[in-house]
Amino acid sequence: MFHVWRCATGPCHVVIPVHLIAITLVLLVSMPCQKRCLHSRCRQICGYPCVPCMETCAWTCRHHACDLRCHEICKRPICNEPCEKLLHCGHPCLGFCGEPCPSICRVCTPQYKDTISLMTMEEFEETDRFVMLPDCGHVFEVSGLDTWMKSEQCDSGTNSISPKSCPSCKNIIRQSLRYGNQIKARMKQLEDVKMRIFGNQQVNEGIVLLRRKQFDEALEQFLTGKNMQIR
Ligand SMILES: [Zn+2]
Ligand SMILES: [Zn+2]
Ligand SMILES: [Zn+2]
Ligand SMILES: [Zn+2]
Ligand SMILES: [Zn+2]
Ligand SMILES: [Zn+2]
Ligand SMILES: [Zn+2]
Repeated sequence: MFHVWRCATGPCHVVIPVHLIAITLVLLVSMPCQKRCLHSRCRQICGYPCVPCMETCAWTCRHHACDLRCHEICKRPICNEPCEKLLHCGHPCLGFCGEPCPSICRVCTPQYKDTISLMTMEEFEETDRFVMLPDCGHVFEVSGLDTWMKSEQCDSGTNSISPKSCPSCKNIIRQSLRYGNQIKARMKQLEDVKMRIFGNQQVNEGIVLLRRKQFDEALEQFLTGKNMQIR
């Protein structure tokens, strides 16, 4: 029986038979967590439950604000008002109020092409708005990216919980204000999986043995582990 362990927070994306989890954990314990927010970077080791950011939520604009903590699901609507800022070139921003300004301009970057709709700058309407993903800087027309973020992105044949990735460069989307709640909801699912793994006594005993490089005993520990439910 194969189970998927996809860690949202690091490079360790692996599909494994469940009895090989010990070997996977050897990989996990050696990598730093990649999760970050506008305030900080998680200092945990990849695969362990993340330390939640307790700073005040940074998602504020002229119209809406969230007064919860950074890691909590935001209690404010998305702002669909246009950004009123001017770009460095002096032309109006094509983004949304309170979001990072996309690095495209109707006048100065006519070569821009949206990789979801495959439309070029001149094919877009005056009223079309764009969103930039802060992790990689790629820019998309908003309706296409909204649909992408809502869609289930499943790899064929696996029942993985995978974080959303950029439609263009496939980098994991870790930071976005507009899509913050979707990102947090998926991360929460992954955190639940981590808690189930690391809340299991046998697993924890196995990890201690792994740290001492007692691999055979560790594997034994994992194999006898009961109630291991990894999804
Ligand atoms: Zn934060
Ligand atoms: Zn983390
Ligand atoms: Zn606003
Ligand atoms: Zn918030
Ligand atoms: Zn802007
Ligand atoms: Zn311009
Ligand atoms: Zn990208």
